Amino acid sequence: MRMNTNVPIGITLLINTYSDHIKTLTDRPIIIAIDGHSSCGKSTLSKDLAALLSYKHIDTGAMYRAVTYHLIAHDVDVTDIQAVESHLDDIEIDFQQIDGACRTFLNGDDIEAHIRGLKVAELVSPVATISAVRHNLVNQQRRMGQAKGIVMDGRDISSVVFPNAELKIFMTADPKIRAERRYQEMITKGSKESYDQILENLKKRDHIDSTREDSPLIQVADAHVIDTTNLSRQEQLDQAMQLAISLIS
Ligand code: C5P
Repeated sequence: MRMNTNVPIGITLLINTYSDHIKTLTDRPIIIAIDGHSSCGKSTLSKDLAALLSYKHIDTGAMYRAVTYHLIAHDVDVTDIQAVESHLDDIEIDFQQIDGACRTFLNGDDIEAHIRGLKVAELVSPVATISAVRHNLVNQQRRMGQAKGIVMDGRDISSVVFPNAELKIFMTADPKIRAERRYQEMITKGSKESYDQILENLKKRDHIDSTREDSPLIQVADAHVIDTTNLSRQEQLDQAMQLAISLIS
């Protein structure tokens, strides 16, 4: 079996536990859609699952953040829908693996370091309510998943992008735990954002994301819920793998 070198230590144990199932899922690739609230670990789980199965991982939140970053960089008023629309054709988003980590590129520039901070986080949910933005990104996301063998995370993957995905997971966690995890992550990146600012931002984004008219965040009927409040990274991966295995056995 092909070993993926991006699998973090600790998770490599699961490769041995699930080797036969991993081979089946690699030989017969599926689409895994992961949706859920802000900062509950969707991207980490998606990254780990993709590494385990040798699948592609697409963090669709990074795509909405990239559009927002472009609009900020060009001084576009994000409440001016026409102005936003006029920029969409100028935006090309790409992902590249660098030193084992996936980085977001905007028109050829690595913008990963610029899209995770509060400046983008404050505006991304309003930008994501704009139908033209969603239409543009959803089309790209569907193209990325055409060949299957993909783990895609976001807010509307199970409901809009891939309603026929073989495995749908809805993730959530206690908002205070989510804010604390995000705060710790941002500290390691040298950020000065406070815990309270982060908590307020994620609550605000959850509200906008769940109540917007176009493609709100919902838990679809056939989604499996993973609550990460009390789960370690490895336990989350283990639960997701059990769900994937139940599909093929
Ligand atoms: O996943 P992340 O927190 O990076 O996403 C940032 C924002 O992008 C979300 O709060 C949401 O407003 C938007 N988003 C979305 N649809 C997706 C992914 C993200 O509306 N599929």
